Amino acid sequence: MGEDSSRERHAIRHGLRAWLMATAGALTSLVFPGGCRICDELLTDSRRVPICQDCLASFKRVPSSLCEICGRPLPVLAQDRGQLRLCPACQDKTYAFDRARSFAIYSGALVRAILLLKFEQIDPLGAWFAERLAELVQSSGNFVADVIVPVPLHRQRERERGYNQAALISNPLAKRLHLPHKTVLLMRTRARPDKRILSLEERWESVRGAFATRPGSQVDKLRVLLVDDVMTTGATLDACAKVLREAGASSVVALTVARAARNPLPSSVEW
Ligand SMILES: [Zn+2]
Ligand SMILES: [Zn+2]
Repeated sequence: MGEDSSRERHAIRHGLRAWLMATAGALTSLVFPGGCRICDELLTDSRRVPICQDCLASFKRVPSSLCEICGRPLPVLAQDRGQLRLCPACQDKTYAFDRARSFAIYSGALVRAILLLKFEQIDPLGAWFAERLAELVQSSGNFVADVIVPVPLHRQRERERGYNQAALISNPLAKRLHLPHKTVLLMRTRARPDKRILSLEERWESVRGAFATRPGSQVDKLRVLLVDDVMTTGATLDACAKVLREAGASSVVALTVARAARNPLPSSVEW
């Protein structure tokens, strides 16, 4: 009997200690939000973006010398100053969108940050990216739009993930620009195949016809601003722009947070 109650007391003490430790852990993580999700550096300020200032500052901005249409970085050439500068793809009128721009080059810490957004629904990070895109809109002056549309995920993919990472960026952007956020205008009718098993050519093929405007949605004469996390070949934005144009959109411009550093062209042109 005596032994039993002592065992009981021991069990209670043990339980209490575990509870105290768990509570203390929860409190600690409230006060100290943990390290930077990219470099592990302790986060010292109270901002809710879980990435330190150094990592945020390391994102490499897209250089100012770029293709007027797709925003692809171009070499600086003194002689064509003042002329419309177009990359080979845009000289061939490759894209159905009118203009595309990105915040930074898809490399280094930004790759990790974009991955974070893909696998965790970190709203403050989406909002931080939206601020950068809003700055692009304000400084460029030619991103006029009536509605903001995130590049959609396939229904099944969105159900698995629980959210669309492009919408984590486009939603706060729409709020900042005081524009309606239309998540149901476009839909992805075909799931994205695994990019790693596709050649460039196949990647273009895979998104062709993968999007549609939702039946009954009003697109006619709308100026649409498309938003996505990364632009690589531009095939996805092109496919979205095509269906929006076919549905009557009067213009389609696109913004992405990141731009692939190696920016392969849809044709075989190497330059
Ligand atoms: Zn960091
Ligand atoms: Zn171009």
